[in-house]
Amino acid sequence: MAENSIFKNTKYFIIDMDGTFYLDGNIIEGSIDFIEKARATGRDFYFFTNNSSNNVEVCRAKLEKMGFPVDENRVIISSHVAADYLNRNYAGKKVFLLGNERLTGDFKKAGINLVDADPDIVVLGFDTTLTYQKMWDAVRYIDKGAVYIATHPDLNCPTADGYMPDTGSMIELFAASTGKRPQVLGKPMTATVDYITEMLGCERSELAFIGDRLATDIAIGANHGIPCALVYSGVTTPEEYAASDIKASVAVENLKALADYL
Ligand SMILES: [Mg+2]
Repeated sequence: MAENSIFKNTKYFIIDMDGTFYLDGNIIEGSIDFIEKARATGRDFYFFTNNSSNNVEVCRAKLEKMGFPVDENRVIISSHVAADYLNRNYAGKKVFLLGNERLTGDFKKAGINLVDADPDIVVLGFDTTLTYQKMWDAVRYIDKGAVYIATHPDLNCPTADGYMPDTGSMIELFAASTGKRPQVLGKPMTATVDYITEMLGCERSELAFIGDRLATDIAIGANHGIPCALVYSGVTTPEEYAASDIKASVAVENLKALADYL
């Protein structure tokens, strides 16, 4: 039986993209039914992805190509949380960024003071243009005592053909070299919850997170007392979920099945 009380306070669903709303370039069957049911029951939705190698334009273009065009403010990325965090806590400080041209563009747009040398802060993003020289420079700056921040913790990024090593794997590489670990942002961290509640002008209790990855999409809800729904349409199997300490408010096959809980 569907349990209708889980989302009784929910005003905003914060939905993961890859493996939750779409997979391999196609919207997962029933995802749009969920959005329609959410709207019909007075809820709104936003997408949140940890993937800081993408910007809003790329995410929007992807969704539009799949037949689901959205406004630019519907897509939130861990890079937005990071830029906001830097502006609040380290305004004007010199930042050495490990990021591709999209992340670099977003940081420039946010007014972050990007430098090539002698930074106050090193920010590690999902840098799909990472070179040995950039890794070497970052290690030197971290070793010298620069503040060290990472946009998100994901170890791997799923693709249609296996996976790509993501920011979390680079965190391990730098930890092996420097012995230091970054302050991590994105899902499942509190800075991300604060960013979203501030952006939407709402209480934590009015949010609900939906996603396919336990350590990020579900942990952000579980760690902050916010309802969260696991979908088995992405990286997590029911067997993995049964064996995990991270527990969702509800676990279902996909968004279509979750619509029964609204
Ligand atoms: Mg996902």
